[in-house]
Amino acid sequence: MKLDFPKLEQKILKFWKKEKIFEKSIKARAKKRDFVFYEGPPTANGKPGIHHLEARVFKDIICRYKTMRGFRVLRKAGWDTHGLPVELEVEKKLGLKNKKDIEKFGIAKFNKKCKESVWQYKSDWEDLTEKIGYWLDMKDPYITYESNYIETVWWIIKRIFKNGLLYQDYKVIPYCPRCGTSLSSHEVAQGYKTIKENAVTVKFELVDEPGTYILAWTTTPWTLPANVALAVNPEIDYLKFSLKNYPGISDGNYITSKKDFEDYKEEIGKNKFRYGAIVKIIDKFKGKDLVGKEYKPLYPFDAPYKVIAGGFVSIEEGTGVVHIAPAFGEDDMNVIKMLNVKCQTLNEPEFPILLTVNEEGKFKKEVKKWAGMFVKDADPLIIEDLKKRGLLFGEELYEHDYPFCWRCKTPLLYYAKKSWFIRMTEVKKRLIKNNQKINWIPSYLKKGRFGQWLKDLKDWAVSRERYWGTPLPVWFCQTVNSQQSKVKSQKSCDNIVVIGSIRELEKLSGKKISELHRPYIDEITFKCDKCGGLMKRVPEVIDCWFDSGSMPFAQYHYPFKDKDLIDKKNQFPADYICEGVDQTRGWFYTLLAISTLLGFGPPYKTVISLGHVLDKQGEKMSKSKGNIVDPWYIIGKYGADASRWYFYTVNQPGDSKLFSERDVEKSLKKFILTFWNCFIFYNTYAKLRKTPQQNINVNPRNYQRKSATLLDKWIISRLNGLVEKVTQKMDKYDIVFAARDIENFVIDDLSLWYIRRSRKRFQKPRNAQELKEAAKTLALVLETLSKLSAPFTPFIAENIYKNVSSFKCRLAQQVSKKMSVHLEDWPKANKNIIDKGLETKMEQARKIVAMTLNQRAEAGIKIRQPLSSLKIKDLRFKIKGDKELLELIKDEVNVREVVFGPKIKGDVELDTEITPELKEKGVLREVIRQIQQMRKTAGYKPKDKIMVRYEGTEFLNKILNRNKNFVLREMKVEDFCQKDGALYRTVQGGADQVFDIEKEIKIEGQKLWLAIKKI
Ligand SMILES: [Zn+2]
Ligand SMILES: [Zn+2]
Repeated sequence: MKLDFPKLEQKILKFWKKEKIFEKSIKARAKKRDFVFYEGPPTANGKPGIHHLEARVFKDIICRYKTMRGFRVLRKAGWDTHGLPVELEVEKKLGLKNKKDIEKFGIAKFNKKCKESVWQYKSDWEDLTEKIGYWLDMKDPYITYESNYIETVWWIIKRIFKNGLLYQDYKVIPYCPRCGTSLSSHEVAQGYKTIKENAVTVKFELVDEPGTYILAWTTTPWTLPANVALAVNPEIDYLKFSLKNYPGISDGNYITSKKDFEDYKEEIGKNKFRYGAIVKIIDKFKGKDLVGKEYKPLYPFDAPYKVIAGGFVSIEEGTGVVHIAPAFGEDDMNVIKMLNVKCQTLNEPEFPILLTVNEEGKFKKEVKKWAGMFVKDADPLIIEDLKKRGLLFGEELYEHDYPFCWRCKTPLLYYAKKSWFIRMTEVKKRLIKNNQKINWIPSYLKKGRFGQWLKDLKDWAVSRERYWGTPLPVWFCQTVNSQQSKVKSQKSCDNIVVIGSIRELEKLSGKKISELHRPYIDEITFKCDKCGGLMKRVPEVIDCWFDSGSMPFAQYHYPFKDKDLIDKKNQFPADYICEGVDQTRGWFYTLLAISTLLGFGPPYKTVISLGHVLDKQGEKMSKSKGNIVDPWYIIGKYGADASRWYFYTVNQPGDSKLFSERDVEKSLKKFILTFWNCFIFYNTYAKLRKTPQQNINVNPRNYQRKSATLLDKWIISRLNGLVEKVTQKMDKYDIVFAARDIENFVIDDLSLWYIRRSRKRFQKPRNAQELKEAAKTLALVLETLSKLSAPFTPFIAENIYKNVSSFKCRLAQQVSKKMSVHLEDWPKANKNIIDKGLETKMEQARKIVAMTLNQRAEAGIKIRQPLSSLKIKDLRFKIKGDKELLELIKDEVNVREVVFGPKIKGDVELDTEITPELKEKGVLREVIRQIQQMRKTAGYKPKDKIMVRYEGTEFLNKILNRNKNFVLREMKVEDFCQKDGALYRTVQGGADQVFDIEKEIKIEGQKLWLAIKKI
């Protein structure tokens, strides 16, 4: 029968469901302290992938472990339902191309489609979650589009506003021209790609020095029409040089930074030599000497076109001169804003902000040459234009990281826009302080990726000019040029009201409000309490990352309900969260941001940030590459346990995983199957044998079992050591090494040594007592292992626990049996029975065995061939007087005796001489092994009795005839004879075949025919 783990897992899933084991495991801990876990909400509008499997198993293991440690671990599921990802899918489905299309289609209809679309793959998510064994409360999830959830988010926004941290500003922000909305810096951080594009060095001719050009370098030629100034760093060195006969560049005088000039020294030298180019430095000066100079614009509009001072200008890249387009650069905008304040007081002309590009990322009609063209597409044409006009100094292919929209992959533009911001820079110190209290796994993220992120923090651009999201609860007065206004600059009433609850809005508007989404909410208006005008909502919705970051509060509808959950810290902060590394600047950040803004401190204590799951070549998985791995396929083929074990043991959670199916297969074969075979061994030899003495009181929880056998004592000592080690590691979230400890124990200690060396006691016990001792020990080991492995491989653990413990209960009625291993308590180590002395001695014995087996292999003698003696150097090992250990060694290496002596070359010395008597024993061993294999092939049960016939050379026949009784004793053979004539011969294809199996083998180079039959 072939073992089918996926099928076995199905059975266990059914059992868990029917008996409500998950619910029971939580209820059983109701009175204890809570261990708080937060589920990062996925979006169900896409199918889950293999990386979701990774996250889910790492979430599950800690929750299961803590439950067994006595904590109550609520695991509320959550769904992220708003935002661009959803809108984009619906746009695609409906064939809508831009915002105009959506508005034509109708916002109400569009949002309805969005709401439906977020559940498209819900059943897939639930199915995968269940199959992988991730216990999650999916019956009562939080859903970010529900009114209760939105109401909490509104309440949070209002708190932020009251603290003076919400503001609207005209700023240059990352903007997706396809989606028509601004993005926050953490969204931008999701979408960087390394690209190669043309960078150009452009010539700006000085007005009062014709033929002299300032050089400026840029990677975004499309921003050049919006240029209004050139910025230099006043403190750094520049120089003017003349060029003559230089290949590819027209003669003239040029100004650049000293460093830039020196970077080209080598090239200049070559060109002097080859082409007779003449390059001369004419002048040297500081940047401040250039400030105020006027230049001829490349694309003239109405602007001063002057050289200005900018402290931000560096000499790292380019010419030390930055072309300033305030509409498309953050630094550019800042420097121009400051400059214009000065210009105002000095009554000088201000620098305009030339917004040459519309919201779709296309040139406006003012830029005649490329009007209506997407700016990135216009880049090559602009370069061509400059070349023709002799304004291009140089052009190069330049590799750099450029941000793309994390959803639609359109290159982002930095674009001047009015947006709503949260002043994160104001709470930066508190964010950094709170981050100090978080246990990051891997630890380097705290100061690295995440710490650096906090250091370079920017204000949170929180508004989105979109449709499907939590509406920004900001209402503003429509009154413009109100009569009371006497201040010149005040153009409207400026009244702003931020709504923090549904009731508040109902009171102000006098309307019953049941739908909080656009467009319905846009129609809710009320009277301005300052001027009596009309208050209307701003059109924006909120960044969906704000939704998910609000979940600690919003999942419980705080503060409108169950306030204690947060205020009394029952469900705040989380003890543990875990998601992929891409959430470091995503959910991990927004959780911290919102909690800190509200003054609640760090929202989680420990976070595991998981490495990417890549394909086996280390490439990102993507549909276009066709290297995506289907999680159902993997679970269906190898089982959930093997898949889980793979993720826990392949490397540290924070490392990238080069996923290969072979590695999952390996975890199945290496660990799961070995563990399973240990259990099958127990089931075969220990469980089935009923002896009258079995109702002896044994409490498996008390590990102080007093078996007289050395091996039993040893495995129990090792077991307690294992419990201690695994507990310590799991408490430190060291999942990998805890798992490897279990694996090593199962493979090396239990399977390759304990069971191997105990076979005789199980298969041919001298008496009932001996079997009982062995069976009790193995039952105890397996039961304890089932508990230790329960959080890791919940299915096989359950199966073993249930089978082994039912045996245990027959042994001792007073032991209360749990229905499931997942309702059990985590085992406790009894340090008193960890016998380090014994473990050291056993280690030595195993070392001796390994060395001896090496010598056998070198001499080419099979293990079944008995040898006469093994000598051990006695000064080296301390096991001389230990009879039991020596017996173990003798058995394992198959020698008659073990002797100790000082005069041995190495540590051990094996007598490799094979006497005729030893040879005879060797032949017998081989025959017995062959018969056993034939029994297996025939599918006999261990208790089945058989008869054996043989026929070989005279030499072999003699040996077998002579040792008939030995064979009868060693095996369940009733009848063992040389074949006696035609009666037992098989007639090929005939009906009178007498044997079940027959075969011809070679022993010592001689032929032997063997046949068996059940009787
Ligand atoms: Zn986009
Ligand atoms: Zn007003």
